Amino acid sequence: MSVDFKKFSGSGMTSDSSRLKLISELKKQGIKNNKVLNAMSIVPRHIFVDEAIAGKAYDNTALPIGKSQTISHPLIVAKMTEILINRNPKRILEIGTGSGYQAAILSLLVDKVYSIERIELLHKKANSIFRKVGFKNIYTKFADGNEGWSQKSPFDAIIVTAGALEVPSSLIEQLSSRGGILISPVKKNGKQYLKSIEKNNKIITEKVHGVVNFVPLLQGTEK
Ligand code: SAH
Repeated sequence: MSVDFKKFSGSGMTSDSSRLKLISELKKQGIKNNKVLNAMSIVPRHIFVDEAIAGKAYDNTALPIGKSQTISHPLIVAKMTEILINRNPKRILEIGTGSGYQAAILSLLVDKVYSIERIELLHKKANSIFRKVGFKNIYTKFADGNEGWSQKSPFDAIIVTAGALEVPSSLIEQLSSRGGILISPVKKNGKQYLKSIEKNNKIITEKVHGVVNFVPLLQGTEK
């Protein structure tokens, strides 16, 4: 796969050493999958945020991306990616393209990434980065992700990067019944938990992976 991060103006201005420092932090914090760590060491996070905060791009923290949304915390990106990649998915659906960073990481690890965003401006911004860098296996849609992307289903994996009270039933329906795995923040008693749902034939297995803090999963689209 031929992605060219140098094509992007501004790439290179933030040192590779700060990215490597982030990777060693992720390892210390328990991320083990080398493919995930490698993808995170390749994708420059600073090109997915505005230049004014690019200097903070390798801090292990969430950052604003406009429209009151955030690029997720690197440790959470790594953790969610690791849970999914350990199952070897080929086709993956993301709800909440946001900056495009999570989709970019996934695109180095799977055959096809489908990503839906409900805010048109963010959808366009992420698309323009994908085009400039040359990601050929990321397919995006400006729509309400609650409905999933039925024409492209079933998916081997689904990642929801915004929190709801419940995982939308359309997403569970669009998950492959041959060991498909979905990961999503889910709200309960005022807290958000990272939950995975595995589907084997008709059997659904759920697991909780800790507390997280995502922006809310909203309804409808925003121009
Ligand atoms: N994966 C993103 C994280 C972005 S924050 C990244 O790597 O940067 C979550 C995103 O989910 C926001 O951009 C928000 O607009 C979007 N979102 C919230 N509800 C949504 C919905 N129903 N459908 C699609 N996107 C949604």
